[in-house]
Order: sequence, then structure tokens, then C-alpha cells
Amino acid sequence: MKFQQLCVLGSTGSIGESTLDVALRHPETMAVYALSAYSRMEKLAEQARIARAKIVIVPTEQARDRFRQAWAGDGAGPEIRIGAQALVDTVLDSEVTTVMAAIVGAAGLPSALAAAKAGKRILLANKEALVAAGGLFMRTARENGAELLPIDSEHNAIFQCMPQVTRATIPTEPAAGVRRLLLTGSGGPFRQTAIDQLAGVTPDQACAHPNWSMGRKISVDSATMLNKGLEVIEAHWLFAMPVDRIKVVIHPQSMVHSMVEYEDGSILAQLGQPDMRTPIAYGLGFPERIDSGVGLLQLAMLGRLDFEEPDFERFPCLRLSFDALKTGQAACVALNAANEIAVDCFLKQQIRYTEIAPVIESCLERITGRSDTSLDSLDDVLALDAHTRGIATELCQLKA
Ligand code: NDP
Repeated sequence: MKFQQLCVLGSTGSIGESTLDVALRHPETMAVYALSAYSRMEKLAEQARIARAKIVIVPTEQARDRFRQAWAGDGAGPEIRIGAQALVDTVLDSEVTTVMAAIVGAAGLPSALAAAKAGKRILLANKEALVAAGGLFMRTARENGAELLPIDSEHNAIFQCMPQVTRATIPTEPAAGVRRLLLTGSGGPFRQTAIDQLAGVTPDQACAHPNWSMGRKISVDSATMLNKGLEVIEAHWLFAMPVDRIKVVIHPQSMVHSMVEYEDGSILAQLGQPDMRTPIAYGLGFPERIDSGVGLLQLAMLGRLDFEEPDFERFPCLRLSFDALKTGQAACVALNAANEIAVDCFLKQQIRYTEIAPVIESCLERITGRSDTSLDSLDDVLALDAHTRGIATELCQLKA
């Protein structure tokens, strides 16, 4: 395997941490060049010391001072770069071979896009980049010879189940012989909660995912199944698959991470523990398989695997996501931006859990008629993103 120099964007998050866990198991084939964080400077300092990172990227001068205070390693420590542009600049450093795009939300889009433009090997965890700018991102990656490895466990599973020949390129049409993509989702913590009780659920209840340990934003997205909706959009772009050939299946045990259905009736599935180190190790090692630190999956102890249809009344955000994908890119940008604001307000207990979907729906109505043709640059996407955030913030304030 070629030696890799990693730039881990969002290293202090759940995915970032798992990435370092896997990478540090393989010092002979990979090293950590750069790490980035937004608020957790003590954790960043500890990570930089252990991983011997050359560069760290922090958002502000105050964060830089906090990083310096927290630095407990030898000498002056790594070079400290500041601000959102430094994320983009570091991705472009010639030393970087591989970028883990694990910043949460649309904030991760510019650096992920920069990695695509620079033709790097991209391990894409930040699904919002594809939701907001899927066409632009995929085109940029394809034209610049970037290597794109999906890290989201569902897309990583689909990637593993795809015909081998299609894994080497960024597709422009559905893989030959594939009928449908079957995306599994656990249904989250409220799969069986009485619908009339959902208005009273707390952020901590929403973040208590039955199977996965994740950041708070994606945990709420999993509870509403907006996360699965983002994944449907993500799958559409990653595998050039029309929306009517992507199906969501509820699978409470989270052991089958997704499936590919072929024209002959075969269904190939990828199974594993619900531990993100497996897809991360797949991405880091590709095309080889490397140790992830994940233990055995004891199928006999598991006993059974269940599957059911998703209920759109319980999960209105899932319906809104399918609608947005059918409507077009502007709707997808708005869906994502409105959701980020609504989830943030819910986590701060400013709106109820059941108000997340209505906020998104109102935002989608307010941008109806907006043409996708005006969204062919990063600036256009970010402008619509900011516009929608403004509308969503107002709507949340009215509900608070
Ligand atoms: P976390 O919230 O745990 O971590 C997010 C990371 O992004 C942190 O390092 C955080 O820094 C940093 N960050 C937050 N805001 C900004 C900003 N404005 N600018 C720069 N950096 C920022 O998220 P996850 O690790 O759970 O998720 C990361 C991405 O991966 C998301 O897009 C998510 O949808 C996707 N994903 C996550 C999965 C999971 O299992 N967690 C599974 C599949 C996909 P700090 O902590 O210092 O504030």
C-alpha cells in the first residue's frame, strides 16, 4: 500500500476520533499530517501530541491561544493555522495524500470541495457536502481525478457490494446489472414511541441512539430519519442512481449496513458491528483490507435480523427528503440548511422535536420555484444555504 499522509478535518468529532484510532494502528503505512477542530482545543492538543501532527487548524485566535495553553507535548508543538480558509489551504498542501472530510454540516463543504479539486483521495463522511452540492462535488472530483471513498456506513456498504469494476471510477450512470439500492436504517430511538408523545421528547432522549454512538446533530437526524433522507440524496449522487431506484428499509439491529439488489434477483449485503471504524478502515486501506480494531460479529448471539417499511407519518423528515431530491438541488440545499438550524434550536431546547419537520417544510415552500441552474458554483450554494438559514432562524424564533 502507498504511504498516506492524512489530513483529518473534524478530528475531535466522533468520526475524527475513530479515524485516528484506526490510523494509529498502522504507522507503517500512514501518518497524520494535519488535524482540525472547532471548539475542543484540549482534545485537539492531546490528539496532536499522540498522532505527532505537523499542522493543526483552529477557527480563531482565541482558539489558538487555548490550544497553546493546552499543549503538553515536547517543544513548541505543531504549526497552528487559523480560520476556514486554512482548512482549504491545508487540504491543498502537497504533503497531503488523503483527506478525511469529517466536519459536521455545510461548514465541511468548502474543504471537501477543495480536496476534490486538488484530486486527492477523499474519505467522505460529511454527507451535507453531497446533499448541498452533489452535482458540483461529483463533477469536480471526476474531472480532477480524485479518489472518492464513501465513509457513511450505508454508502460504504453499498460501495463494497457494487460490481468491482465500478469501484475504480466515479460513476455517471447506474452500475450495469444493479436494479436498486436498499438503504437500511434502525428507525432510531423513537421507532416505537407513541406518535402523540413525540412532542415532549428531550434532546438527550433524541441523542440516545439504540445502536450507534455519534455526534449530537447526526443523532437527532437519526431520530427524525432526516439522516436517512440525507443518505438517500447522498446515494443518488455517489452511485448516479435515480431516486425511484433507492429504497429505505427499517432494520432495527443495525447489523446489515445496506444492500445492492441486482437484476437477477440477488441481493448483496454488507454486515458488521455498528462501529464506524469498519468503514473508516475500509476507506483508509482501500483496495486492501486492514485491521480496524472492531471485534467479531457473533451472528448466533444476534439470533435474528428484522426488516420493515418506514412509516412516513412517524418520520415526516424522510418524506420531505425524498420530495426535495425529486424537486431539485435548491430544495436539497434548503432541506439541509433548514434542518441544521432546526436541530440546533431543538438541541438548545428552543423548539420542540415535532417542530423540526414543519420548519423544514416551511423553508422548502418559501424557496419553491428557485431554479437549480443558478447553483453551479460554491458561492451560489453557500448563498442559498445562508438565505435558508435566515428563514429557518426566523421560523424557530416564532416557535420559541
Ligand atoms: P461531531 O459533532 O462528533 O464532530 C464534528 C467535527 O466538526 C468536530 O471535530 C467539530 O469540532 C468540527 N466542527 C463543528 N463545527 C465546525 C465548523 N463550523 N467549522 C469547522 N469544524 C467544525 O460529528 P460526527 O463526527 O458525528 O459527524 C461528522 C460528519 O460525519 C457529519 O457530516 C456526519 O453526518 C457524518 N457522519 C457521521 C457518522 C457517525 O457515526 N458519527 C456516520 C456517518 C456520517 P469541535 O468538536 O472541536 O467543536
